[in-house]
Amino acid sequence: MASVRYCKIGADVWQSVRYCKIGADVWQALLVRYYLSAVETMFDDSYFMQRALQEAQLAFEKDEIPVGAVVVQHNKIIGRGHNLTETLHDVTAHAEMIALTAAFNHMGAKYLPDATLYVTLEPCHMCAGALYWSKIGRIVVGAADEKHGYRRFYGSQSPFHPKTQLTTGVLADEGARLMKLFFQRKRSPL
Ligand SMILES: [Zn+2]
Repeated sequence: MASVRYCKIGADVWQSVRYCKIGADVWQALLVRYYLSAVETMFDDSYFMQRALQEAQLAFEKDEIPVGAVVVQHNKIIGRGHNLTETLHDVTAHAEMIALTAAFNHMGAKYLPDATLYVTLEPCHMCAGALYWSKIGRIVVGAADEKHGYRRFYGSQSPFHPKTQLTTGVLADEGARLMKLFFQRKRSPL
């Protein structure tokens, strides 16, 4: 009898321990899920385009055409750049080229299949070519550039690597506003 009692208590205790263990696992899983969704919400396309816009602002302050770019991998900025064509007397010193070079150096790799480039203005065909060679995983573009953007040269064809995903129009108004302000200031300097 005593042994049956013992077994019964033992089973209850075991069940309660198991219940607690499962409960803790579920609780932990929920916390991880909550954390990941909070991180995803925080580090979304707008967040990183804001960082690219900060780069564009730096260009603006140097009297350079205000274009900025950041390269992101696993929610971390691994390369950043802004247009420096005047400062460096180099027509290839576009924001994307500088951000890409920084990212290649950071990774010690010449391809960036897991990275995303955020750029405030549609890339030109030179930068589109560099992005093709980089095999970058994703490109997020802000404002359209009808005059010098790659679409003027490529039309509806994609100049990027077949595996590259493309998103356009992220914080496009902010990117365009900075460009408009820059050229307004050029036309009528104070
Ligand atoms: Zn370019």
